[in-house]
Amino acid sequence: MNENVKSVQISGIRKFYNEVVKVKGAISLTLGQPDFNTPNCIKEEMKKAIDEDKTTYTPNAGIIQLREEISKYLKTLNINYSKEDICITVGGSEGLYSVFQSLVNPGENVLIPTPAYPAYESIVKIIGGKVFNYNLNEDFSLNIEEIKRSLDESNSKILVLSFPTNPTGAILDKEGRDKLIKLIKDREIIVITDEIYASIIYDDYYSIAQEDEILDKVIYISGFSKMFSATGLRIGYVCSKKDLMNEIMKVHQYGVSCATSIVQYGMISGLKNGLSEVEKMKQEFKNRRDFVCERLTKMGLEHTVPKGAFYVFPSIKKFNLSSYEFCRKLLNEEKVACVPGDAFGEGGEGYIRISYCYSIEELKLALDKIEDFIKRL
Ligand code: PMP
Repeated sequence: MNENVKSVQISGIRKFYNEVVKVKGAISLTLGQPDFNTPNCIKEEMKKAIDEDKTTYTPNAGIIQLREEISKYLKTLNINYSKEDICITVGGSEGLYSVFQSLVNPGENVLIPTPAYPAYESIVKIIGGKVFNYNLNEDFSLNIEEIKRSLDESNSKILVLSFPTNPTGAILDKEGRDKLIKLIKDREIIVITDEIYASIIYDDYYSIAQEDEILDKVIYISGFSKMFSATGLRIGYVCSKKDLMNEIMKVHQYGVSCATSIVQYGMISGLKNGLSEVEKMKQEFKNRRDFVCERLTKMGLEHTVPKGAFYVFPSIKKFNLSSYEFCRKLLNEEKVACVPGDAFGEGGEGYIRISYCYSIEELKLALDKIEDFIKRL
């Protein structure tokens, strides 16, 4: 067995989910996938692609029309990548994997925030890199001084950013973006920015990729799993400038050849005809966010109000239980499942992740039970 692989645990989210399925009748607020149907315009285009036998390999980087549509879409977010700078991947996950594999040398430090999506840390470890965590502010916003300190201390050349953040829902504001841009200009670093939730932001959108001058130091990862409620279609994309892209393409090519052809056709239609559906989903997520936050405030569970994605990350520190113990007890006593914060690294201990990819009715039922539970603690 490969020692690096052996050293990595299965995801804490999965591990807890495996316990949840054993509890009959449990209400689960654990899922990281939207509960809407994939827009019809995408489904119809995929069916058409099957009927027209578009089932062969596509170019490694993906079909040109899709890359053109992504380039156009990104321009509406003030991000300038041409079709040559874009590679279609098998979900954001394969994008992350190909990017880390093409960048990180064995033993090299990679700067990763904590709490964060667990895949960053595991991928880095699997490929033999070293993880150097940096902390965020109390409200999970970026602490630029902490990043500078961590860069100096770790001697790391690779910085990972993730906005909107899974599990906290934090986003990058204008001030944070501008400070980061200055930092990137000043230093010899490569920044991987995972923005897979960028289409679900309830505020203005800011990204380091909006500054053309630093794009040769930036790798932008995104995708359609969350945007089009299509997690099972496995499609995402990576954007970067030529030198980096040449290396990423090698890993991508030998790993998967290309993303699924019919899904790529579906996504062209999604970008052309499905953006109003994305807006509707976002509005519904916002209503749910407001509902969940109001209930948490009323029951005295401290939390920051998430400005993106579909998670809330309340603190449970006052109960003197670990996040795992809290979630386990909640599951056993009230049959409600939330993800223990420690599944997202050390910085997540003392919190739980509530996903609001559920109807208001389901959320109300679960929150009533959480309220009963904490009254007894
Ligand atoms: N990045 C983050 C922050 C995520 O939360 C996820 C999925 N939960 C991914 C990347 C991977 O997404 P995909 O389904 O497109 O592989």
